[in-house]
Amino acid sequence: MGKFEYAPAPESRDIVSLRESYGLFIGGEFTPGVDDRAFKTISPATEEILAEVTEAGPADVDRAVSAARQAYEHTWSRLPGKERAKYLFRIARIVQEKARELAVLESLDNGKPIRESRDVDIPLVAAHFFYHAGWADKLEYAGYGPAPRPLGVAGQVIPWNFPLLMLAWKIAPALACGNTVVLKPAETTPLTALAFAEICQQADLPPGVVNIVTGAGETGRALVTHPGIDKVAFTGSTEVGKEIARACAPSRKKLTLELGGKAANIVFEDAPVDQAVEGIVNGIFFNQGHVCCAGSRLLVQESVHAEVLAALRRRLETLRLGDPLDKNTDVGAINSAAQLAKIRELSEVGEAEGAQRWSPPCELPVKGFWFPPTVFTGVSQAHRIAREEIFGPVLSVLTFRTPAEAVEKANNTPYGLSAGVWTEKGSLILWMASRLRAGVVWANTFNKFDPASPFGGYKESGYGREGGRHGLEAYLDV
Ligand code: NDP
Repeated sequence: MGKFEYAPAPESRDIVSLRESYGLFIGGEFTPGVDDRAFKTISPATEEILAEVTEAGPADVDRAVSAARQAYEHTWSRLPGKERAKYLFRIARIVQEKARELAVLESLDNGKPIRESRDVDIPLVAAHFFYHAGWADKLEYAGYGPAPRPLGVAGQVIPWNFPLLMLAWKIAPALACGNTVVLKPAETTPLTALAFAEICQQADLPPGVVNIVTGAGETGRALVTHPGIDKVAFTGSTEVGKEIARACAPSRKKLTLELGGKAANIVFEDAPVDQAVEGIVNGIFFNQGHVCCAGSRLLVQESVHAEVLAALRRRLETLRLGDPLDKNTDVGAINSAAQLAKIRELSEVGEAEGAQRWSPPCELPVKGFWFPPTVFTGVSQAHRIAREEIFGPVLSVLTFRTPAEAVEKANNTPYGLSAGVWTEKGSLILWMASRLRAGVVWANTFNKFDPASPFGGYKESGYGREGGRHGLEAYLDV
């Protein structure tokens, strides 16, 4: 079965009005950086320059932390929860009103298909603000004592794979609990965080409650090591997470880390094959595989290996790769040249180590950063593509014979963020879930997120939880 011919259905980008350049958002205003340094953010699908963005230096980070401290002491921590809730509800409503604009902006700056930014990222952003607005006046019922106190100023550093969603995961619980924040978006995807700054203005959020400092790793380092920060929240690579843990260790800063993953998506012989194949595709090709909890290792029971692989190949032949703004697109652009180089390198290593590489016939656009959906079979546990996070649309397939072997192989990783189990036996799901060393175990589904459900890892996938009642703990002095 080949692809149906679809006429192009591009979402118009006219709804987005980009400024030529953006300042930092400090104390409720956009301000220039002290050193007058800037960098450009581009569309990874076309390499077109979208805007120039200010690079915050240590003096700017210092200004932002002072603004957050002022707002914490004089305004935000003094407001009753029900008043904080009103602002969070207002933000959630504005996100919904601007949903189309935010989705287009996210797809432009990140390269992800509009179908995903429109149907997944932005609705979840609004849901996170609604959910935490609900908690703001009920914190005494969260199980952390009768009058849980906020921590103070939170320094938050987020990655480029879900720019606005990661911002929501960080900012919504922090504000609900009475903290103020300084947030640094990733260098390659700053635009929706800056659009969010405008939403804060529109919501009349008191100045300094949310501050956005744009920049690269150095800006992030200046933020997490700033002595005026009480709490650090980081999502990104395990390597940088370890560096931040070392930097915070001698201080009183509270720290949560959400790091990498190498999740096993485990398919048993009694699983409904077509549903499992949808789950495998969603698990690794959603968001080009730029997902920390991606199901990047497929563990398939030996007896159905050939059947599952044949169905998977047929399904992959129907995926459409191309313009992220086209509503028919399934696989968008890789976020940056650097990430593309990393995916290429690890895929070459996979071949060199003896695994068999396969991609569906797929024409890659000439400009921009692209990588076809790729499946490696004949992968052994020792291969680097079975051990390292590729963070791209690359699936490594391994086999197993018994549930015990599946558990052994799934847990044979330094990570422990997520896992998937596909079987029609409820007892087997429970047996597996209690043995898998992963923060989230999905059964007969994958990549399902909900603000009420805590998310986080074991081992080198980090510590602390985001979302749900558990996620509040990270922003309370308990
Ligand atoms: P990083 O961990 O470098 O980036 C995450 C965030 O941290 C970005 O905002 C980054 O800024 C910032 N940062 C970088 N260095 C420091 C530092 N020393 N102190 C404080 N903040 C810092 O991830 P990369 O973007 O470099 O991606 C590299 C690999 O990490 C990927 O290939 C993937 O394997 C993994 N990754 C995992 C993610 C996850 O959710 N688990 C998310 C992103 C990446 P800037 O972007 O400007 O450099």
